[in-house]
Amino acid sequence: MDYEKHFSDNLNGMRAEGNYREFADLERMSGDFPRAVRHVDGGTQEIVVWCANDYLGMGQHPQVLEAMHEALDKCGAGAGGTRNISGTNHYHVLLEEELADLHRKEAALLFTSGYVANWTALSTLASRLPDCLVISDALNHNSMIEGIRHGRSEKSIFRHNDPEHLDEILSDVDPDRAKIVAFESVYSMDGDIAPIAEIVEVAEKHNALTYLDEVHAVGMYGERGAGVAERDGLMHRVDIVQGTLGKAFGNIGGYIAASANFVRSNGAGFIFSTSLPPHVAAGARAAIRILKSDNAIRERHQERAATLKQRLTAAGMEVMPSVSHIVPVFVGDPRLCKIASDELLDRHGIYVQPINYPTVPRGTERLRIAPTPLHDDAMMDQLVAAFEDVWTRLELRSAA
Ligand SMILES: *Cc1c(COP(=O)(O)O)cnc(C)c1O
Repeated sequence: MDYEKHFSDNLNGMRAEGNYREFADLERMSGDFPRAVRHVDGGTQEIVVWCANDYLGMGQHPQVLEAMHEALDKCGAGAGGTRNISGTNHYHVLLEEELADLHRKEAALLFTSGYVANWTALSTLASRLPDCLVISDALNHNSMIEGIRHGRSEKSIFRHNDPEHLDEILSDVDPDRAKIVAFESVYSMDGDIAPIAEIVEVAEKHNALTYLDEVHAVGMYGERGAGVAERDGLMHRVDIVQGTLGKAFGNIGGYIAASANFVRSNGAGFIFSTSLPPHVAAGARAAIRILKSDNAIRERHQERAATLKQRLTAAGMEVMPSVSHIVPVFVGDPRLCKIASDELLDRHGIYVQPINYPTVPRGTERLRIAPTPLHDDAMMDQLVAAFEDVWTRLELRSAA
């Protein structure tokens, strides 16, 4: 076996398709988000980041940084162990209490990422519940898919955001059998939102547990930033909610919140991994507390997204229908998508990552923009002008 040749052939194939992943080499500028410095060709370039998952700029909020500095000085760098073996720091305990309160659940459990939270929680539930059936939305995130797969229970897929199809599937299952309905609230590549009320109603009718990934909603939706289930008045009807501390809360880490009994039946991804650094727990907790009371930032976030959708549409771009803070602009070709992204960055200092297969289906390649409350009107003017220039140069403008 010629290993080198195998890997280079594989990568060349991806390059030809435009699907080879290149990472922008960035230095985020604290105090100046969403601006960043990009390292390129031995030099640097100042850019504006338009695709960060730090959706509200909490990664640089002064109170978040202050809480982190304080905890770092007090406790040092790492947690020093797994949760079980000396690695439970008081900041973890406080953060879990904060998260349980946020979601109005009995308990919360931290993981090192949202990915690990989904993987561990779903695989543990699916494998520990006797003869479990997991019914999963067709567009669920890879972390849920892999968790369900590893749980090795039977699984079934319902059509994306389709409660009637879910009902059909559940109608054929023994009412006494253990069942988990796994879905997300905001689907971050299209920006659509699940009909949580209908899905929960179907699940209740068939006595199935509900597992809801609110990764792209926590901090951003609901009166206190608990997510779309809070916005829709449905928190008490969702059994297990999962979230991240790495997106709107501006740090890193993941969690589930549920009744204490569910939380205690935890799995390998929790037990056998070093817990989060104490200062990260402190920073995440500060961000959650700020966002519990700051509705103005959520309103500004939604306004920015609505304004950008409207402005790009007026300029002739094909903005894909999105009812959330995500602004996906359709390109429909992997190579053009990559070239458009490169030109925005190289010529205009505008960074929007191309989203290609396998993240989205072939033929639906897009630029996915995530405006934050800190993207001001001048930045938006610059973005729209840059898109117009690149769209004209690449002859991408729709006929409309
Ligand atoms: C990003 C993401 C995750 C993983 O969260 P991390 O904290 O980044 O590991 C889980 N679910 C969805 C839907 C995501 O987009």
